[in-house]
Amino acid sequence: MSTNSPISPAIDPVKLDKLAEVAIRVGLQLAPGQDLVMTSSMAALPLARLITEHAYKAGAGLVTCLFSDDEMTLARFRYGSDDSFDRAADWLYEGQAKAFANGAARLAVRGENPMLLAGEDPAKVSRANKANSLAYRPALEKITGFDINWTIVAYPDAAWAKLVFPNDPDELAVKKLADAIFAASRVDVADPVANWQAHNAALKSRTTWLNEKNFQSLHFTGPGTDLRIGLADGHEWKGGASLAKNGVTCNPNIPTEEVFTTPHAHRVEGRVSSTKPLSYQGTLIDNIEVRFEGGRIVEANASKGEAVLQKVLDTDEGARRLGEVALVPHSSPISKSGLLFYNTLFDENAACHIALGQCYSDCFVNGASLTPEQIAAQGGNKSLIHIDWMIGSGQIDIDGLDASGARTPVMRKGEWA
Ligand code: ZN
Ligand code: ZN
Repeated sequence: MSTNSPISPAIDPVKLDKLAEVAIRVGLQLAPGQDLVMTSSMAALPLARLITEHAYKAGAGLVTCLFSDDEMTLARFRYGSDDSFDRAADWLYEGQAKAFANGAARLAVRGENPMLLAGEDPAKVSRANKANSLAYRPALEKITGFDINWTIVAYPDAAWAKLVFPNDPDELAVKKLADAIFAASRVDVADPVANWQAHNAALKSRTTWLNEKNFQSLHFTGPGTDLRIGLADGHEWKGGASLAKNGVTCNPNIPTEEVFTTPHAHRVEGRVSSTKPLSYQGTLIDNIEVRFEGGRIVEANASKGEAVLQKVLDTDEGARRLGEVALVPHSSPISKSGLLFYNTLFDENAACHIALGQCYSDCFVNGASLTPEQIAAQGGNKSLIHIDWMIGSGQIDIDGLDASGARTPVMRKGEWA
């Protein structure tokens, strides 16, 4: 372990080191000689350093870390020229795509302030996001298509901690968020790597059952929700570990509790209400209510952040259609913590959710060999965005419907039936 890393005394250094080890050995299963491209906020430097150590100990080729900084991001929004909001650092994204094409693994350390851009002009935020998404697309397709092994882990940034625990003094808030991250990421146990193997096996038994059932659609009912989600033709349920095309099995999200698949972009009907606020690029969008017709959102409201929601839906044609449906029991450890993390990596593992936008080609049978045209023909959605929001709770029932219309209970009161 480094002796000069500025780790806050509120963060258990042993558990932080275990998180770095889990990121490399479970999240990425980094192969000897493999290069690693990491992105991290400056605030997460202590974790990025520990991850780099574990990567080289595991035989990494070259480890390259690209840092971002909240204050620099704010400086752009406050003083940047108007034209600059339609631009992105294309050359940097092209470089990442090239690294992935050459076999580099990808690791993201999330630890920025989720509300950083809350006070900035939503139009500028949306333009900057769109420009970034376009530039990032070639690299992102290699990630979402599992050309390479990738993972995301989180660091307890002080501004984030203050948002999750607003009534605690700064140090205590960081300690509480750190402990919540360590528990959710399964690094507060004696043997985290073995614990993850058992967890992956449990998720695998769920996906095996759902794939054998091969439901045509899922019917969600609950307060404010009566939604039929048609599943894409040839969809496949995934969860836990994934085999990337480069032959490496990775855990793309640390933590993860979900099993998920691809909805049919044109076969979603009915109404659905969110059960948790969505924190999107610094804006809190709360009490979302939408209505689908033919897979498309034709009506959308929110009690808070509605203007941002409407902008998101107008990103492109696919932004109004679903790219993911995921099942998480209400008793998942993250749900039981009762916390709102303002961070999808955690909040999506507390409840069943759907995602607007891009689908995962990996969530199709033989997804790796399908062309984008075949994926679209089978009902896979295409968009610049992929935004998860929570529709599960202890009051949601889910039925699976097969080709003949016969119903099988999948979840009752938010738990596996
Ligand atoms: Zn998900
Ligand atoms: Zn998602």
